[in-house]
Amino acid sequence: MNPKQNLDAPDEFSDRRGHLIGAAAELGIDHMLICDPLNLYYLTGAKLTPYERFIGLIMNPESGDSFLILPRLERGCKSDPTLKIQYYKDDQDPYRLVVSLLGSGHKLGIEKAYLPLSRVENIMAAKGVCEGDLLGDFTDIGELVAELRLIKKPMEIERHDETACCSDAILKQVAPKIELGKTEKQIAAQIMLAMSEMDQVSSEELVALVQAGSNTAHPHGVASDYVIQEGDPVLIDFGVCRAGYWSDCTRTFFVGNPPAKLEEIYRIVLKANQAAIAAVKPGIPLAEIDRAAREVIVDAGYGEYFIHRTGHGLGLSVHEAPSVHANNQNLVQEGMIFTVEPGIYIPGLGGVRIEDDVVVESEAAKVLNRYPKNFEKMVLEA
Ligand code: MN
Repeated sequence: MNPKQNLDAPDEFSDRRGHLIGAAAELGIDHMLICDPLNLYYLTGAKLTPYERFIGLIMNPESGDSFLILPRLERGCKSDPTLKIQYYKDDQDPYRLVVSLLGSGHKLGIEKAYLPLSRVENIMAAKGVCEGDLLGDFTDIGELVAELRLIKKPMEIERHDETACCSDAILKQVAPKIELGKTEKQIAAQIMLAMSEMDQVSSEELVALVQAGSNTAHPHGVASDYVIQEGDPVLIDFGVCRAGYWSDCTRTFFVGNPPAKLEEIYRIVLKANQAAIAAVKPGIPLAEIDRAAREVIVDAGYGEYFIHRTGHGLGLSVHEAPSVHANNQNLVQEGMIFTVEPGIYIPGLGGVRIEDDVVVESEAAKVLNRYPKNFEKMVLEA
């Protein structure tokens, strides 16, 4: 199967569109234009990398009609067979097609965080209206789609579970190759090779962050030419995108015995990771999960070195709702999937992060990653 196409549940797509149309109708929206490729995939099954070309899904709550607008070169792309598709040629103006399909209503739902102003202007130009006429009628529907994507159905949870198993297998394969004298980039290449050898993993989405030594003190650094030294922490953070669904996992290894302070930090971060996972249950604010992790780190005296939120949602995107941070009072709901990834980063010394993916079940969290995380298992032979 082409990893970009996951059409084993076509009813799912029309159900999702139906939910969105219902929510939009309640807001008095006349029609919707969806352009974010991941939202398009979620709603139609069409997985596309449009580059600069226009792609869009038009939905009309009143008639119930949905049209997918695609460049003609995407003719082979699979999507929900019940959808009507309109193709345009490279020398045609897709925005005229958009306007011709929008119908007569004025209140247009768009994804404000995604649709660039230049495209809004193109739509307005095709409609032949001045700015004031149309701008006031734009309503943001990005949040409506995000809310739909927030709660995962059993089929999606199964996909995430499979993807997390892939990340376990990759760690198992790569851990023995983390050795003295290797560079961060060489380890990253090993991870990407292991990923690319798995079925249904898209070659477009190979991402691996590997940092060693004091570089581990920068949570968002990239793999460099740094050569691993004895006692170094080696932080590996990678996502696997399989059949469209992401896992995101971090483990911090040590090549030989680390300095005592790094061992101490490792044990604190592990305790924070476990405390946050234990705190997860439906009905509590997401902030409580962040608090559970942060409390452990603050009590140990390292609060100022935990410089990011505790986690983020996962799905068709590696970062999506919900955000697990100290001010998010939204409630944890069954079917959410998010990461739990506390860390401590000490400039000049190094950092530790331990990241797991969890799914919220009726009473508690189920952890999807199974790769060990106890300190002893992370110390590799030098
Ligand atoms: Mn993450």
